[in-house]
Amino acid sequence: MGIEKVLLARGGPHLSRMAYGAWRLNDDPQRASLQHVREKIDLCLELGLTTIDHADIYGDYSCEALFGRALAEAPSLRDKMQLVTKAGIKLVSAHRPSHKIKSYDTSAAHLTASLDNSLKQLRTEYVDLFLIHRPDPFMDVQETASALNEMVRSGKAKHIGVSNFTPSQFQLLDARMDKPLVTNQIEMSVLEMAPLEDGVMDQAMRLGFSPMAWSPLGGGLLFDEQNEASVRVRQTLKVLGEKYEADVATMALAWLLAHPARIVPIIGSNSPERIRSLVKAEKVALTRTEWFEVWQASKGREVP
Ligand code: NAP
Repeated sequence: MGIEKVLLARGGPHLSRMAYGAWRLNDDPQRASLQHVREKIDLCLELGLTTIDHADIYGDYSCEALFGRALAEAPSLRDKMQLVTKAGIKLVSAHRPSHKIKSYDTSAAHLTASLDNSLKQLRTEYVDLFLIHRPDPFMDVQETASALNEMVRSGKAKHIGVSNFTPSQFQLLDARMDKPLVTNQIEMSVLEMAPLEDGVMDQAMRLGFSPMAWSPLGGGLLFDEQNEASVRVRQTLKVLGEKYEADVATMALAWLLAHPARIVPIIGSNSPERIRSLVKAEKVALTRTEWFEVWQASKGREVP
């Protein structure tokens, strides 16, 4: 059983309707042991949260390796999951002494080396989806596209997408790809609705791909007592949640799931109890009016 799968784009990968994000995997020392990571992997698979979102830089370049070590203890689990990773951001880090400043790098050399290292860290032969993490103002689009196309030809990445791209940046790269880009992973939540207005969601629906939504709880901002929008949205979600027997966080995910673009939210909680609860969002079907009640609470005004 577990949550359903979604075809991300025509010819794209089948991902779980919600994904699990590994960004914070190393944040909680209580849970960063191999045993805890393995328990988290088992929980995600049990719930049908089979798509795991990584990036080379997560946990200051540590999370892929931690996950890979846990996976190495149960290699048969690899076929039960879809692994996503990203590259293109260079952090200043003790683990990357050659990085003088924080910058972006979409050169063929950097992307190729980064994917090879991700495969090594994750202990896998391929990733299901490889994303350019952020748009790079210094991108040589022909060089970048050639490197990405070669990743697919070699079988190291099954599919290619981007993250945090504007529609025109997406189009620029997409036009040079052998196969269309399959997603744009963007920040979207009950507190971050820009993609509904800046053309990102329009483009996803026009091209027929599902966007992935990062920080679907605003990275925890939804629970901030000082943030006025958070207080308003929580109040609205609480009332709606009484009808659906779901808590505020679960209702926030249900708001994303309700959108016709078939958005794939990426769950970031480290708490097994919260992860279990959040996947129940799939059972909640918000009405159009309820969706707008949340919109109104977030904006602090009715629609024009
Ligand atoms: P999120 O779900 O918005 O935020 C998770 C945070 O909220 C955790 O610290 C969690 O704490 C806290 N939280 C959850 N439920 C809570 C509750 N009921 N009360 C109080 N705090 C609560 O997601 P995220 O971690 O920011 O992002 C999710 C994933 O998106 C990441 O793992 C990563 O894969 C991806 N991402 C991508 C990009 C990009 O540029 N492409 C950027 C950022 C993130 P607990 O752990 O204690 O539950």
